[in-house]
Amino acid sequence: MLKRWALVVVAGLSAAAASAEVTAIRAGRLIDPETGRALANQTILVEGEKITAVGGEVAVPPGATVIDLSSSTVMPGLVDAHTHLALTYKDVPESNYYYLTYVMDSTPLRAIQAASNGIQLLSSGFTVVRDLGNNGNYADTAHRIAIEQGWIPGPTMINSGLIIGGKGGQFWPTPEMAREHNLVYPEYLEADTPDEIVKAVRENMLFGAKVIKICVDCKPWGYSVDEMRLFIREAAKGGLKVAGHVQTPEGASRAIEAGIWSIEHGRALTEEHHRLMAQKGIFLASTDTPFTPYHGTKEDAEKNAAQLRSAWKNGVKLTFSTDMDYWQTGNPMTRGELTINFLLTWKAAGIPNADILKAMTITGYQCAQVEKERGPIKPGLAADIIAVRGNPLDDIDALRDVRFVMKDGLVFKRDGVMTPEQFFHAGPVKGWRRR
Ligand SMILES: [Zn+2]
Repeated sequence: MLKRWALVVVAGLSAAAASAEVTAIRAGRLIDPETGRALANQTILVEGEKITAVGGEVAVPPGATVIDLSSSTVMPGLVDAHTHLALTYKDVPESNYYYLTYVMDSTPLRAIQAASNGIQLLSSGFTVVRDLGNNGNYADTAHRIAIEQGWIPGPTMINSGLIIGGKGGQFWPTPEMAREHNLVYPEYLEADTPDEIVKAVRENMLFGAKVIKICVDCKPWGYSVDEMRLFIREAAKGGLKVAGHVQTPEGASRAIEAGIWSIEHGRALTEEHHRLMAQKGIFLASTDTPFTPYHGTKEDAEKNAAQLRSAWKNGVKLTFSTDMDYWQTGNPMTRGELTINFLLTWKAAGIPNADILKAMTITGYQCAQVEKERGPIKPGLAADIIAVRGNPLDDIDALRDVRFVMKDGLVFKRDGVMTPEQFFHAGPVKGWRRR
């Protein structure tokens, strides 16, 4: 009898301990970006890193920690499908000339900048980013590993490592730079022949890339359809997709024919390209720079909005993407605020709020290949959850003021204030094998 009594007590204790680890989020309004609809008075249960239940009738277990967001709109985290966290070119001292940034800022400094940028993006609700190169000598991989091992908070990163391009990469280096390979390299990994393409893809995979980024047409000797198919085949061995920087209509046609995963930058695309991309299911990360006091021109911004509208009209799989990699002296905006400000282009393009939200979430998760593990607020997926005061389905600018952020089940921001204590550790608490 005594034994049995003891068992009951132990069982009772462990049940209490278990429910103490449950967090219940009361959502006044919960948006499902897949359907573009919102449901009132929903409860989300989170255990450890994962969502375990969602619904209107979900009972809150005794002992659960309750987070009251009953006067907020709750939704899944946002995605920037094209950014550069370890690059910030500036007006001073480099006159926005990013060749000089590579010379002035070391990779370790840029990795620290990236960690700060990641925290600023998370504070603005971005829980997933594709970080597509120009990150020094694999600062992006180090940053991703630091987040995954549990050293610092930051978005889930799908990083590309070095951008692979033909001779010269995206630059026009001088002979001294190009031959010695010690100035503005290793921003790019050169691959001019099939053998070099295979090697470059393998090198990036070895050094922690989660997507392969290539320069499709940065030079007159850009990649052919066959060469891009070789990239795609080789990357597939590691389960990676290929993202292509495109800056000419011819390059776009070749990339589409090759069946590339995503096209980066939309400026060279015609309506015919948009139709073909929609047919083939190719993602667009068009990096839609708005006209702001700190960057861009009105004329360029209008073109960006027009091409984005054409892509939307033709049913292209649109992601929210920024290419955000600059700062102007005196600008008080955070990297997160600079990123969310790209909504200006989406509004100028006249894209409905529900479709903007979808681009910023569902399509972004798919493009980043994370949708089976995180993104939608569904049982079994990682608890990446944000909340805002207004309703972004009515007013997309509500996203500019993210008040609450949960990442992997931990509260990162509450009542508009970052509370990242739980994310800092003196060791790799999630395991050093995360690489
Ligand atoms: Zn870029």
